[in-house]
Amino acid sequence: MILTVTMNPSIDTRYTVDHLVIDDVNRVTAAKTAGGKGLNVSRVLVQLGDDVVATGLLGGHSGAYLGDLMDADGIPHRFTPIAGESRTCIALLHDGNQTELLESGPTVSAEELGAFMDNYRDLVAGASCVTLSGSLPKGVPAGCYADLVRIAREAGVPVLLDTSGAALDAALASDVKPTLVKPNLTEVNGLLGTSFSPDDLDELRATLAADERFAGIDWVVVSMGAAGSVAFHDGRTLRARAPRIDAVNATGSGDSTIAGFAHAIAAGSDAEEVLRCGNTCGTLNAMDPQTGHLVMESWDEIHGAVEISEL
Ligand code: ADP
Repeated sequence: MILTVTMNPSIDTRYTVDHLVIDDVNRVTAAKTAGGKGLNVSRVLVQLGDDVVATGLLGGHSGAYLGDLMDADGIPHRFTPIAGESRTCIALLHDGNQTELLESGPTVSAEELGAFMDNYRDLVAGASCVTLSGSLPKGVPAGCYADLVRIAREAGVPVLLDTSGAALDAALASDVKPTLVKPNLTEVNGLLGTSFSPDDLDELRATLAADERFAGIDWVVVSMGAAGSVAFHDGRTLRARAPRIDAVNATGSGDSTIAGFAHAIAAGSDAEEVLRCGNTCGTLNAMDPQTGHLVMESWDEIHGAVEISEL
């Protein structure tokens, strides 16, 4: 079973309107999905046929509704209940733009976090891989992911971490490292204080190799949107080039990539296939209008077209 963790899930609401009129009424069509990066990962894993359990924190009536949305997507879930209401995030598609309104979400108490940790420990015992994705809600210390990484590693379970800011800093500073991190190029440049492009991969490799924070991480994968990704793994540098596609909506491509990595790592695939599978999922998500959803009928074509080379 692959365990996905979403600490701050949200009712992702997409409103579509041709033209947004400011300071007046806008009539919109709405689409609601169970969101938060970890739930995007879960949805893709269900599409890949994996046995998944989604966990995290769910609160109030919004939390109950999120449970219904997960049921509708066929995502098995065992979240810890909290008193605060789970959040709603709004993406407004208008005039060829995407304007987002993101609630920060509920505040979590120490008791609620303690109950979650017990639930997590139970679930990790039956997991073949764990994914930790997204931001932490208020009340959860920045070191939470470092703790979740430690619990998984002590249980001998590979753990993939996709977060940013203080939560990522704390996990990188810990003596127990995640199995895989996947910053995108902008995020890694932010972490390193650099401005590398996809043409500067030798410099990126040297800078990462000299940075103690990344030492001991089995897989450091830097995703680069339409340019694919580069993976630093086991002393090797593997470059994946994404096939040229007509991108429809690349939101969630990073989450889909994490799902592909988890799928392949849980299956014990070799390094090339891990990277190919992650990139295939990222690209197939970019071809689909929905977030965290793959155009599965193009799997064979895209999987075969991802080019892997060693640098
Ligand atoms: P994030 O969503 O975390 O910013 P990226 O935008 O780097 O992640 O996308 C993750 C992966 O999805 C890429 O490494 C690539 O494999 C795939 N991908 C994203 N956008 C495109 C695109 N326009 N064409 C082909 N593949 C894409």
